[in-house]
Amino acid sequence: MRAINSITEQDIKGVGMTSQRTRDRLITRLKEKGINNAEVLRVMSLVPRHLFVDEAMATRAYEDASFPIGHGQTISQPYIVARMTELLLGSGPLDYVLEVGTGSAYQAAVLGGLVKEMHTVEVIPELYRQGRDLLYKLGYRNIRTHLGDGSWGWQESAPYDAIMVTAAPDEIPNALIQQLKIGGRLVIPVGAQNSEQVLQLVTRTSDTKYSVENFESVVFVPLVSSS
Ligand code: SAH
Repeated sequence: MRAINSITEQDIKGVGMTSQRTRDRLITRLKEKGINNAEVLRVMSLVPRHLFVDEAMATRAYEDASFPIGHGQTISQPYIVARMTELLLGSGPLDYVLEVGTGSAYQAAVLGGLVKEMHTVEVIPELYRQGRDLLYKLGYRNIRTHLGDGSWGWQESAPYDAIMVTAAPDEIPNALIQQLKIGGRLVIPVGAQNSEQVLQLVTRTSDTKYSVENFESVVFVPLVSSS
């Protein structure tokens, strides 16, 4: 992530490998890979991903790749961001969303452009601060950032229409299901570290029941848990 004391309109607009033309090429690739939610594609064409990666990586920001963001963490690959966002939205718009694992805050910015209000929780203080400041400087006023262990969700603002987790637990944390509204959706990579994780869509069907659908296999950093 870059130093964010001063972000100008020109920084956001980008130039050369960070320009709108380069971003549009990424959107074409995402379509070719099967992303077809027009709203997701529209928002992803607008979010300046080059400001969410290390400055040295900025010219590669519109490659469909994940990059290190320090602290052993990564910014997710755009295809995975698009896929998870598409699964989270399902067929309709969402008002109230929680993300666990702010990281670079790129996924939060994408969601922030699509939902009414969202909360994002990060456990590493420095990433939390950088994400908070960057989102603020970029003008997002519907995203609330929090520092803490998100494997317990974020009870204070629950229940949510949807929850997205961008780090992988071995098993779905029950607290997250409890913080979903009935009918609410949870998108989460599940599986042990160093083994194959699977992207799951969990739908809370009643007070005590939920359904699980499996999607593609993915690679995420582990969801740390203080329990
Ligand atoms: N959504 C991020 C991807 C971040 S990688 C992006 O768009 O860049 C996963 C992040 O989850 C890391 O920053 C890691 O520190 C964070 N994380 C891991 N376990 C966590 C937990 N229990 N609570 C909150 N954040 C957690």
